[in-house]
Amino acid sequence: GGERERLSYERFGVAVRELAQAIADDGYRPDVVLSIARGGVFVAGGLAYALDCKNIHLVNVEFYTGVGTTLEMPVMLAPVPNRIDFTDKKVLIADDVADTGKTLKLVRDFCLDAVAEVRSAVVYEKTQSLVKCEYVWKRTDEWIEFPWSVQPPVVKRTGQVLDA
Ligand code: 5GP
Repeated sequence: GGERERLSYERFGVAVRELAQAIADDGYRPDVVLSIARGGVFVAGGLAYALDCKNIHLVNVEFYTGVGTTLEMPVMLAPVPNRIDFTDKKVLIADDVADTGKTLKLVRDFCLDAVAEVRSAVVYEKTQSLVKCEYVWKRTDEWIEFPWSVQPPVVKRTGQVLDA
């Protein structure tokens, strides 16, 4: 694909409020927001504030190694959250995008037999996603540039800048 979907921090702020509004309008009141690191952490923080949910958990999943290049399967990295923490809880899984949907499926399946209810919220969902999320802000099939990952990591500067 040629075109890219560019999301700014400003528009992300709008997106996360609108996503939370849709969840509230639907009457879903999660006890726990489970974020998929790293991109889902931004989404989970915004949703948890907007939904007045004080309980955020995190799972690290590794899948993408570059633009459109992935490992064979997504893997959960240690430390894996304790599912006992989710027993009888209404869980909202939060991620930036469901692309193939494999990452969300892994985390959903991890929750399923442990929780009262699990639903998923993403900023973007692509057509091919094998998981259909309950809450989606926008659908696209383009590669998305998120504000937190569009730039390369910072490197230590040399010269005039003093060390902190
Ligand atoms: P999936 O398992 O659904 O294929 O991919 C989920 C994860 O892959 C997302 O949480 C995100 O980190 C990464 N990813 C998938 N598609 C895109 C994309 O279009 N842009 C960016 N920046 N990351 C993506």
